[in-house]
Amino acid sequence: MSEVSSLPWAAAPAAGNAIGLYAKWTPTLDAKIAAALQRLTDASIEHGDGLVQSSSLGVEDMVITDLIARTQLPIAISTLDTGKLHPETLALLPRIQERYGRTVEVFKPVADAVIQFVRKEGDDAMYKSIELRKACCGIRKMEPLGRMLKGRSAWITGLRREQSGARGDVAFDEDDGNGRRKISPIADWTWAEVWAYVEKYDVPYNPLHDQFMPSIGCAPCTRAIAVGEDFRAGRWWWEDSTKECGLHAKS
Ligand code: SF4
Repeated sequence: MSEVSSLPWAAAPAAGNAIGLYAKWTPTLDAKIAAALQRLTDASIEHGDGLVQSSSLGVEDMVITDLIARTQLPIAISTLDTGKLHPETLALLPRIQERYGRTVEVFKPVADAVIQFVRKEGDDAMYKSIELRKACCGIRKMEPLGRMLKGRSAWITGLRREQSGARGDVAFDEDDGNGRRKISPIADWTWAEVWAYVEKYDVPYNPLHDQFMPSIGCAPCTRAIAVGEDFRAGRWWWEDSTKECGLHAKS
């Protein structure tokens, strides 16, 4: 086993409580919630069935799902199951069904492509080079995302400007580089505001957020972060990269 792969996510610091640690209702949050809802409503009217929420099942996306479901907006909710997610992440699917009565459509990679890749490059290929890591993301994320977005004119993401320097200029509504609109209704929310919303509306969330993982991706590629580290420092932590898998790459 390589040195990086011996840093398991389970080696995170003892669990805290994300709500207790981060939630802070700010004077502007009511207005931000209203604005986010307006963006979702406008997008739903403009795009109709062409609109989908592409949820990572991270806390930001859970907030957006809550906004959609509580206001009964007719927006489809989808996610990618890469085959490498934590069980805690997958456990959110039945919780969403139970809580909101909404079925999340799950897109998985092509099984044969995964088998061939793992057979050729190994199950830990992501640690060997950035190229192999991106190839893994291509098979497990990008290809299924393409199927998720096929026929859609717009998608909703939980991107926030605060998440990283690379996301500092995320727009509420922008061209995704492939002819679709990419809508990020809570782009201006802070981490404290996300958790204040979760607390107020009792939004289901991944318990791994209680283990200092603000950004949760595939299990082999996610670790807890230390105080002062960037939100996405725990993603592909062994790389000196922009911490993006291609889903939100700038064109
Ligand atoms: S995040 Fe890691 S395991 Fe998931 S698709 Fe990318 S390289 Fe593969």
